[in-house]
Amino acid sequence: MAQTPWGDLPVNDAHVHFFSHHFFAALAQLKKLDGAEALGPLLNWDIPANNSTGLAKQWLVEMDRRGVQRLCLIASIPGDEASVAAAASANPNRFFGYFTLDPTQADALERMRAAANNPGLHGVCLFPAMHKFSIADERLAPILQLTSDHNMVVFVHCGALSVGFRKKLGLGSPFDLRFSNPLDLHPVALQFPQIRFVVPHFGAGLLREALMVADLCPNIYLDTSSSNHWMAYEGLNLRTVFTRAIDLLGVDRLLFGTDSSFFPRGWHAAILEQQSTALYELGLDQEQAGQIFSRNLERILSPRLSLIRDLPALAR
Ligand SMILES: [Zn+2]
Repeated sequence: MAQTPWGDLPVNDAHVHFFSHHFFAALAQLKKLDGAEALGPLLNWDIPANNSTGLAKQWLVEMDRRGVQRLCLIASIPGDEASVAAAASANPNRFFGYFTLDPTQADALERMRAAANNPGLHGVCLFPAMHKFSIADERLAPILQLTSDHNMVVFVHCGALSVGFRKKLGLGSPFDLRFSNPLDLHPVALQFPQIRFVVPHFGAGLLREALMVADLCPNIYLDTSSSNHWMAYEGLNLRTVFTRAIDLLGVDRLLFGTDSSFFPRGWHAAILEQQSTALYELGLDQEQAGQIFSRNLERILSPRLSLIRDLPALAR
């Protein structure tokens, strides 16, 4: 249980990046450095050892310290599904495994198929602006069909996309925000009504479009994660954003998240404090807060958990 204005409350975090050794090794290669460890002094971050068990343990210690029940761990570069799958399989009551897929790559469908049968993976993360595709592109249909058939959650990053570590390392961010409009999700969410789609950061600057599409499609959820810096585009604050989202969607389709990622910072407790304070001041009761801070996430993942329980022994 985490301490909140309502007292002790179960808290799940729908958005945490799992920066594995594999992730740092790939980043070091981009930066033409000799090995992942060389990034430590450049970023001032801890570089984890080359086994995801150690990093998973570090997160567990952090979660216990902060009173966090469960985290969605996101493998943040394509090809890193094994790291979160190992962490989630070893700790099925604490972690949900999400992985980044670049659907423009030739092996995307194969990767998706393997993931769908992997009990350590629960959701797939798509970054249309980063990998330059539209979520409504027909090439994605077989991938989405697999996620639908296997009850996986689909996370679609919309709106502004900036990657802090790329900036810090001077790597540039050759993204294309024309692919970032939440409205692109409209035909897709209608075509796949079983899929629970999650749009992080309230649409990251495209709040109106995120709310519009979520209003029209009951299978679209918004995560509340990060500092929501995009609010500055419209002179908004957390209270206004929460008010608009709750007035329109109710408390059932918001998922609390922090966007935590690296150590030594660890779990970003200030986000919980800011968001719980805003919601408390808006008059939410403990029951409503419980939906946003833990139960909505459990609800959207429960179809996947049921399916995993029924997966054949080979996948266990
Ligand atoms: Zn994130």
